[in-house]
Amino acid sequence: MRSMHLRNLRAWVGDGSWKDALWVSDGLLIDHVEAGRTSPVELDLGGRVVTPGLIDAHVHLVMGAQFRRGIDLSSAHCALDMVELLQRACVDLDDDAWLISHGWDETAWPGSAPPTLEDMSLLGPRPIVCWRCDLHAALVNQTLLDRLELPAGSPAHATGLLVEDEAWEVLMPALPQVSPEEVRSALVDCGPWLNAMGITGLRTMEYRRELESMLDPVADNLNLRLAVTMLDRTLPLDLEWIRSRDVGLPTVIGCKAFFDGTLGSRTARLASPYVDRGGLGRWVELALEDQDEAWRDAVVQAGLAPSVHAIGDAAVGRARRVLESVPDDRRATIEHAELVPEDELAALARLRLSVQPVHRAEDARGAKDMLGEHRAGRLLPLRSLQQAGARLAFGTDWPVTQIDPMRTLRAALTGETIDGVAFHSEEAIDNHSALYAMTLGAAEAVSLPGQGGLISGEVADLVVWEGDPLSWDGLSEAPRPALVIVGGTIVFGDPDALA
Ligand SMILES: [Zn+2]
Repeated sequence: MRSMHLRNLRAWVGDGSWKDALWVSDGLLIDHVEAGRTSPVELDLGGRVVTPGLIDAHVHLVMGAQFRRGIDLSSAHCALDMVELLQRACVDLDDDAWLISHGWDETAWPGSAPPTLEDMSLLGPRPIVCWRCDLHAALVNQTLLDRLELPAGSPAHATGLLVEDEAWEVLMPALPQVSPEEVRSALVDCGPWLNAMGITGLRTMEYRRELESMLDPVADNLNLRLAVTMLDRTLPLDLEWIRSRDVGLPTVIGCKAFFDGTLGSRTARLASPYVDRGGLGRWVELALEDQDEAWRDAVVQAGLAPSVHAIGDAAVGRARRVLESVPDDRRATIEHAELVPEDELAALARLRLSVQPVHRAEDARGAKDMLGEHRAGRLLPLRSLQQAGARLAFGTDWPVTQIDPMRTLRAALTGETIDGVAFHSEEAIDNHSALYAMTLGAAEAVSLPGQGGLISGEVADLVVWEGDPLSWDGLSEAPRPALVIVGGTIVFGDPDALA
């Protein structure tokens, strides 16, 4: 069904204007159907709102697909609850099979503590891994703890909680290897699930090894436009292979480097100390080694976009200084830019910011204790950034947060914490601006088609909505896709159910 006439609708073009009909031919939007051509499929959309397809500008698709197959603990509302969820998951497993789970977040629980090793012992002797929602920590049981080579002084011996390097460098290599076939099948399963949320495009962060063996072979089976930013970042960079990639494969648009850590783990680099635990956080990797400019030059010389992970205010300022000399058409991005001082606003507006309103909502929960009253108000100040003229691209960092785009929209519209508590609502933005950052703004920042919105010549990637994302208050029931179209093909929903 590549040729269509969509009528009885209100289409939000993206530039502020509206249309009441859309024509699609060969996967593209056209002004009208040419005379002499066979008549297109007619669809009456019953007056529904249509927007461009949603684009998530920052995900980890290969990792997310694998996590999605594990046990989801995000619904747990206390440590006991988490143990019960794990108990239920054990029923379906062989006695010696690993239990790998993710998504718990103790900050909202009574006592703010995860299960103890004793709690975990109720689950039997199989190895158990529970990744924390931010993936910067993991809880394991005694069986697994006994197998890991942890330093003698590590607090994990008493708690089972592995933090940062212990999680990544000790636990990660000890996990059972997942075969590329399994990951490919998990990726294919993700396609319809993402489309059902209205997502038609993603920019994903991948390592070359996983891109080539896992994502490339199945990319054609996903109804998603994909841009890839490479995570391989050891100098000297090997970027020659990118030039010779097949044109049909997902486009590699750039490379990412990390300048600091995260606020939750107090490793985001600040200009003045954390209020609750002291310390300035950390510089990491290339920033720590003062190789950040050499890295940038290598990326730019290869014709690629440099993207920098920077969360603390000191890191955001450094990222801005490193990236501001990059030619505008190379589309350098700061990833996260969570803590933004007033005096950086104007300079940041010259770059593109790939930000996650849900990260703001999550970090807002403890921001006053962590940063003090004034700095807490500088947590992803969307409205200030917008007023300064910043170019915003929204994303979720999935699987670090949930990928549901309506959570992102809610966070941007209300400014509330993830628990629904008011938090600097003066930095909330309006529906048009938020939707723009989830569609045209995201597409532009990560070089995906659709940058012009629902206009002639652009790709026919669109969402027909039940409810109206452009007038939603962020509090009542969220709008949801009724029909999702990618390149003129219906990938979600039943057109016959629309009338
Ligand atoms: Zn990320």
